[in-house]
Amino acid sequence: MTENLFTDRFAIFDENYKKITERIALAADKAGKQIDEITLLAATKTVPVEMINHAIDSGIKHIGENRVQEMMDKYDDFHKDECDIQFIGQLQSNKVKYIVGKVSQIQSVDSIKLAKEISRISKRENVTTKILVEVNIGKEESKGGVMPEALFEFIDEARSLENISINGLMAIPPICEDESELRRYFLAMREYYVDIMGKKLDNISMNVLSMGMSDDFDIAIECGANMVRIGSSLFGRRA
Ligand SMILES: *Cc1c(COP(=O)(O)O)cnc(C)c1O
Repeated sequence: MTENLFTDRFAIFDENYKKITERIALAADKAGKQIDEITLLAATKTVPVEMINHAIDSGIKHIGENRVQEMMDKYDDFHKDECDIQFIGQLQSNKVKYIVGKVSQIQSVDSIKLAKEISRISKRENVTTKILVEVNIGKEESKGGVMPEALFEFIDEARSLENISINGLMAIPPICEDESELRRYFLAMREYYVDIMGKKLDNISMNVLSMGMSDDFDIAIECGANMVRIGSSLFGRRA
């Protein structure tokens, strides 16, 4: 029975993956980019490890987990040799010790306290952890992320920390009524990204602009995203 269940879900994934790849190519083209300049990260919260490994075996090279406990439960079973694992969810400082050394990048760094703890644990473990600074681009109280007006100061402070390397920016814009509003948020992110890149600060590489999810990744790419994080459009709706 379970065998059949996954066979069906594998087929649905295969179809979704093909469609998403085509849409990424189209959006990349509109943005004047090659498809290989856009990184697809599969957001795998609540997705069983059998499905994730099928995705990896089908060519997914990056996955993102949201919850520390869930990631640890799945971690040993991931087909890790062919895929890198990142952390994309809200992270409490006291959980940093569980994921440093296991994930290649933490995408959701939004406080100096958290950055300091990642630095401390990374130093202890003798690794360098790449981080993205999450920006609360819509200034929503309910969301994490550094406020846009505090971004430069945040980056300037965080870049002096040892054993972390600031690798780019990440954002989840507000739910927007219309597309032009959404585009404004994405374009604002791109402007911060380009501005910071232009400053050529030590220990800062603006390599990744991570924005766009299932419902808006085409627009995000058109506005400058070079990494999209896609969950439900690949794996199906979460239960
Ligand atoms: C779940 C999640 C995604 C993917 O969302 P979908 O709408 O399912 O594509 C992307 N980024 C983060 C941080 C997430 O938690």
